[in-house]
Amino acid sequence: RVHSSKDIRSAFIKFYQEKDHTFVPSSKVFSPEDQSLLFVNAGMNQFKPIILGNSDDKRFSSHLKRAVNSQRCIRAGGKHNDLDDVGADLSHHTFFEMLGSWSFGDYFKDVACKLAWEFLTDICKLSSDRLYVTYFGGCDILGVKADIETRDIWLSIGISPERVLPCSPKENFWEMGETGPCGPSTEIHYDRNPANRFAPEEVNVDNSDIVEIWNIVFMQYNRINEKSLEPLHSFHVDTGMGLERITGILQGNKSNYDTDLFMPLISKLREVCNSRPYQGKVGSEDLDGIDCAYRVVSDHIRMLTIAVADGIYPGLRDRNLIVRQVLRRAVKSGIDTLKAPRMFLSSLVPTVVSSLASAYPDLKNKQNEIINTIDSSERQFYDLIDKGTGTVMFAMSKMKPDQTIFPVDTMRKLMLWGYPEEYLLRLTSDKGVTVDQPELKKLLEKRTLDKTKKTKQSVQIDVLKVQKSLKDLAFSKTEIVSSSDLKNAGG
Ligand code: ATP
Ligand code: MG
Ligand code: MG
Ligand code: MG
Repeated sequence: RVHSSKDIRSAFIKFYQEKDHTFVPSSKVFSPEDQSLLFVNAGMNQFKPIILGNSDDKRFSSHLKRAVNSQRCIRAGGKHNDLDDVGADLSHHTFFEMLGSWSFGDYFKDVACKLAWEFLTDICKLSSDRLYVTYFGGCDILGVKADIETRDIWLSIGISPERVLPCSPKENFWEMGETGPCGPSTEIHYDRNPANRFAPEEVNVDNSDIVEIWNIVFMQYNRINEKSLEPLHSFHVDTGMGLERITGILQGNKSNYDTDLFMPLISKLREVCNSRPYQGKVGSEDLDGIDCAYRVVSDHIRMLTIAVADGIYPGLRDRNLIVRQVLRRAVKSGIDTLKAPRMFLSSLVPTVVSSLASAYPDLKNKQNEIINTIDSSERQFYDLIDKGTGTVMFAMSKMKPDQTIFPVDTMRKLMLWGYPEEYLLRLTSDKGVTVDQPELKKLLEKRTLDKTKKTKQSVQIDVLKVQKSLKDLAFSKTEIVSSSDLKNAGG
């Protein structure tokens, strides 16, 4: 049976609601209360005050013991930066929805694992012989023992032992920061290829057919310093499953893109660009890069729609800068690879809105604002491209016959404006002109440095604000975390 993404989202929420979980609406994709994060990158972000034991925070009732939601997340920039994977693979997005469930000081490992398993096998009807689970295999350096309790819970459910795999702290130990709440996690993975038959010693969740779908974190320790942990005053469960991944599986064991969340967008894009159909190829099989471009543009327009709807406009700093970069990346992929006509991007917005409006009704009211914002930022980019291209052509027309290297001062100016370096390289090589590569590299490095410097500075100020308000935390046994910890917190 094919499930629509909308049905999967509501089935998840209903399943947990029937088990006494309160539905908590998604927060925006950035949190004015928590300036330590560029974007909300996991469902738990908005619950941090509960986890930190901050009873002053009025957002949630102190009676909230079990919660469920579907959270809009962005992982571009910051600690979780998946931007480089987007388009190149089939499972990472800049914007995605995380289906989450929580227990705050209520049930712990046994119930959490059993509920997740019941949802996947009873509600989603996934066959248990395609599922794998990982648990924390222990780590001397962290001073934490293997999570045998979780392993035994999975075994007691009847999962065969070769499918229950110990993993390293990198995958299966979660920490909010260098100090503070932390604990082992257990993750559920799915093998998309029904033909796979692994011998027990061959089982490996890094296989490219196997995709991680659900992360279940058990917050049971408080890290006091590098070497010591103490038990948390109350234990919490935090789980998150990617809606696009589970939808891909339930709509035919395919990728996130072969779903009702992306296919309408890819079709619309094809119509706008008059390009060849999407074939789902990746890496070296995607010879002309067209499939990758389809993925990049359809991913990025979702991120842009949600970001603008939540009040993050393309700009020059921090999260606004990332939104602008994502917009320009989408425009370049569209124009250069898919041969889209100029001003194509915003025509995809209504498709995004209609696919997500049932979960986030507010999107409909904001559609015009989103379109106008994207249009004006896209137009600005073409102004830059045209001005830059004119400058490149003019500079080349002024070059003396014996001059073969593009004038460095003009190149400096172009890079300062943010003119795409690949355009400079293409235009010059078309005319047989070379550029001073080491100088270009230096300029590009400076460009990113300047940007991150700005980003760091303004994050720093925000972090100080957060630190100040954190001083009164009920969780006072822990030392106040440093600003760099805060920047890494969450997710
Ligand atoms: P991966 O190892 O695939 O990068 P992760 O371990 O970083 O995922 P978690 O932080 O554990 O992901 O998040 C919980 C779930 O959210 C994942 O199991 C996955 O289903 C989903 N998810 C994480 N990152 C992305 C992303 N960039 N795009 C889509 N879904 C994602
Ligand atoms: Mg990841
Ligand atoms: Mg992972
Ligand atoms: Mg994970």
